[in-house]
Formats: sequence, C-alpha cells, structure tokens
Amino acid sequence: MAAKILIVEDENAVREMLSFTLKNSGFDTFEAINSEEAFDVIKKQNIDLILLDWMLPGKAGIDISRILRSSKETKDIPIIMLTAKSEESDKVLGLESGADDYITKPFSPKELVARIKAILRRVAPQAGMQSVNYGQITLDPSTHKVMDGNNYIELGPTEFKLLHFFITHPERVYSRSQLLDLVWGRNVFVEERTVDVHILRLRHSLKPESAKYIQTVRGAGYRFS
Ligand code: CA
Repeated sequence: MAAKILIVEDENAVREMLSFTLKNSGFDTFEAINSEEAFDVIKKQNIDLILLDWMLPGKAGIDISRILRSSKETKDIPIIMLTAKSEESDKVLGLESGADDYITKPFSPKELVARIKAILRRVAPQAGMQSVNYGQITLDPSTHKVMDGNNYIELGPTEFKLLHFFITHPERVYSRSQLLDLVWGRNVFVEERTVDVHILRLRHSLKPESAKYIQTVRGAGYRFS
C-alpha cells in the first residue's frame, strides 16, 4: 500500500512539483497551504509522513511541528522540514521542534525521495514484531534473537530479514529478483547474485538440519520448506 504524504507548502509551484515528484515515486499525496488545511487533512487521513514548509502564512512550520508533537494522536507522524534557511541554528531549532529531518531549498527531488524512504523504513517495522518459528528455528524480531534448537545463532541484518521472510512465507518459490524486492526493498540497486551470497551465509549459520529448509530450485530461485 502506498504511503500517504502530506505536503504543507504555500508556494503553488513548489507544492505542485513536490506532489508530482512523490506521485511518480509511488506515494499518495495530500496538499495543504496552511496549518488549518494541514490539521484538517491529518484528522481525516492516516498520514504516514509530513513535508512541512518552514515559512507559511499564519502558523509557521515550526509551530505546527510543535503542536503535532504535543498530541498523542499525531506525535509519531514523521516530519521533514522544508526550508530556505540553511543556518545551523535554524536547523537545530527545526529539529528541536520535533522534526525528524530537515531539507534546505533548493533540493534535488531524488534526495528528498531518498530521505522520505529512509524515514519510512525506520518507522515501519512495527508490523510483524511477534516471534515466529519453523522446525527448530525461532526468530524474535523484537529482540533480534534467533534460536536454532537450543543455541542462539548470530545473523547479519540481511540474513535476519531473509530468514524472517522465509519463515513467514514458506512452501513457495521466490526468484532472486522477487527476493530483492520483498526482502531488500524496491529501488535497491543490488545485483541478483547478492541474494546467493546471503543465502549461503544463512545456510552456514544454521544447523545443517535447519539449513536444509532453504532449497535451491534450479532455474527458478529459492524455496523454504
Ligand atoms: Ca513558504
């Protein structure tokens, strides 16, 4: 499902450019030109992230940020502050008001999209935090611990995600490019053979009887079974 981004910006050209860029990157966008419109959208929509202009008519971005942070319903919505100001003290002020990140105009759309994705990734892992198991393997996303039989095993972050994906998606063949999309995330520029490297590491970390669950399906990809 597309993440919902609210753009709060009074300059039409900038707001439209942002909306266009974000839609092209697969986001759902909502627009507001001042704090009243912004709060109205936030009340009605489940907004995932707010791009907040510093200089707005009426309430400034920094004040809106403080208000959002002080309410239980809105305090966890990530905020990226947009501003023409580049003074270090303003940056500190922006972050102190509760913004998660800060981007100075003029900025490259590519950089903005990358920052948005990074923040969304950081706040996303709430889903699927319960511990899962398969055979002798138990994996706990909240503590990042993996047990194979009676032993704790050490996994790198990618092997951990890969194993979590396999345990929660057993008995199906996934191609390397599907695994890249689903485990590494879209828009990651990694070669397909990287998947093989991490599969190999994961197999070596597991006990031989558990490693057997990770099956190579010739010409197709991998299956956990
Ligand atoms: Ca403005």
